[in-house]
Amino acid sequence: MSRKPIIAGNWKMNLLKSEAKSVFEGIKDFVKDYSATELPTIVIAPVFTSISSVESVKCDCGCCGTKIAVAGQNCHWESSGAYTGEISVEMLKDAGCDYVIIGHSERRQYFSETDEMINKKAKAILAGGLIPIICCGETLEQRESGITDSWISGQIKAALQGISAEDIAKSVIAYEPIWAIGTGKTCDADEANRVIAMIRSVVKEVAGSDAADSIRILYGGSVKPSTIEEQMSKSDIDGALVGGASLKAESFNEIIANTMKVACGV
Ligand code: PEP
Repeated sequence: MSRKPIIAGNWKMNLLKSEAKSVFEGIKDFVKDYSATELPTIVIAPVFTSISSVESVKCDCGCCGTKIAVAGQNCHWESSGAYTGEISVEMLKDAGCDYVIIGHSERRQYFSETDEMINKKAKAILAGGLIPIICCGETLEQRESGITDSWISGQIKAALQGISAEDIAKSVIAYEPIWAIGTGKTCDADEANRVIAMIRSVVKEVAGSDAADSIRILYGGSVKPSTIEEQMSKSDIDGALVGGASLKAESFNEIIANTMKVACGV
């Protein structure tokens, strides 16, 4: 089954509004020469204060979809209330977002996000009509002690608990080995593909074959223009969640271009 690739840029806590606008303009300028059918699904996740500096870009033909979509980097599962510092799915939607990244290892590590919270967020995102990008991944210690697969399978089962097969099918998962995030150490493409195929088998177990065939599963962890072609040539890797290399239009555009060489209609 052919799944449309996704290249998502996670800007984390970087870029002031003017800087965000300038990087975004650079990406917009690149995509203008391609139709949405030719491009991978491109998603940009700025800080909340810069969401207004970027915008979702539709294809000029008016029929083949969105060229650039916007994502929140986090959300709360409640729709409003006394949750100082938080943001709801409805607020992200109101600001123009179509996706929300949840369960990033930095949020799990620094903000004590649990699997249960991630499951509540995923349900709220889907109920609000947006798409969750659910992150999972193991530490170096877990990898070295041989528990990578059981750890990740536990994270995925917990995140997807109680979600319908139909909603799971349209969700996105990002496999991000923690030891590869921001370190310059990319996971070997065959190994990333093996773990992602294992995640797909977990999705099959909880939601059936149709959901497992449809769900897009990305690799994240020091993705660069020089690594993406090999990653995209693997059977189960449907795209990338990119941190550092998404902060400059040149490198992000090169990642998109190299993805198109392998996996899109160009
Ligand atoms: C990330 O933060 O999701 C990430 C993969 O970062 P980097 O590409 O910088 O490793």
